[in-house]
Amino acid sequence: MKQHVYLDNNATTMVAPEVFDAMAPFLKDRYGNPSSMHSFGGSVAREVTQARIRVAEFIGAANDYEIVFTGTGTESDNMAILGTLDYYKDKRHIITSRVEHPAVLSLCKKLEKDGYRVTYVPVDSKGNLDLELLKQSVDDDTAVVSIMYANNETGVILPVEEIGPFLRERGVVFHVDAVQAAGKIPIDVNRIGCDLLTISGHKFHAPKGVGALYVRRGTRIRPVLFGGHQEKGRRPGTENVPGIIGVGKAAEMAKAHLDEYRTRVGALRDRLERGILDKFSNAGLNGDEVRRVPNTSNIGFEFIEGEAILLYLDEQGIAASSGSACSSGSLEPSHVLRAMGVPFTSAHGSIRFSLSRYTTGEEIDYVISVMPVVVERLLEISPYWDNFKKEPVPINL
Ligand code: PLP
Repeated sequence: MKQHVYLDNNATTMVAPEVFDAMAPFLKDRYGNPSSMHSFGGSVAREVTQARIRVAEFIGAANDYEIVFTGTGTESDNMAILGTLDYYKDKRHIITSRVEHPAVLSLCKKLEKDGYRVTYVPVDSKGNLDLELLKQSVDDDTAVVSIMYANNETGVILPVEEIGPFLRERGVVFHVDAVQAAGKIPIDVNRIGCDLLTISGHKFHAPKGVGALYVRRGTRIRPVLFGGHQEKGRRPGTENVPGIIGVGKAAEMAKAHLDEYRTRVGALRDRLERGILDKFSNAGLNGDEVRRVPNTSNIGFEFIEGEAILLYLDEQGIAASSGSACSSGSLEPSHVLRAMGVPFTSAHGSIRFSLSRYTTGEEIDYVISVMPVVVERLLEISPYWDNFKKEPVPINL
């Protein structure tokens, strides 16, 4: 059986049909500029406001004007950090974690070159943040702390709800990168106690190219782009109206489906995981089994290459992703797995499966049935095959 099974939803998601339908009129007939004086534009502006309200409700924001629409999660992350630093010019210290997305880490590396001091808080072998070290790192020079809610590679949830109240007491700005949490677990900016929070539409069934930054009322942040008055001057540039309408609809739907993630999607992920971990003595879970978003599973296979697994899976119509930084052209394992101290032999063979609410039980069973063939085939050609006493499974799909 050959099918198309998409288990790479942490990379991007399908646009939900309802989201597509909601956007369509704004790509065709309703093309007015929301800033225009005429009613053709004005009626579009009202729809943008509706979308803003939906996004605010999705993350528990008290007011819709606390939502600033941006182009991507990357832009929101950059705006949060750079915009804060620009306001608190005399403060030169940033705190983040070693497992952040490059949207934060690459910026921090650049800021270090510009003379800022950056503390990269470590994680333990399960990907859990060293909270005490984070707390000890805060000093009078700290301008902003930026910590992700859920890790994109392992799904591990970081303790943002414990960090928020601590930083609030010290008057330090707290930014949360919630790109991988949105749509998978409930987000409540007031429970977290953060000042800034990033989400990105394409991770929860809206299109690519639209993100949002939550800016708590009273938070001091300067724009990083300069131009018109859009988004109250906080993010100038004519609005991506279809994208904004799409992210509003996707936010509304994601909120309604949160329970399904906790129950059905979580159960499917666990079924996949058990179906693999119970079968292979060289397979182990990367990340905290409990403190995770329900859709993500990162499995390390010792002595075989993640890229090779992916290619064989792809041949069988299965899309997943690996834990190596192959995108950078290097064969280095990912910075996340390295920060967790995952042994080199298994980090190289790490595969991330990420499900969505569109994933079916049939698809999961198909992946479970294909995995032995792929893994045994690779073990056979692995120079370390002698370590494994199993008989190779014939390749016969
Ligand atoms: N932050 C995290 C945790 C992510 O996983 C991603 C994307 O994978 C981003 C930020 C960047 O989001 P975008 O692709 O919208 O720029």
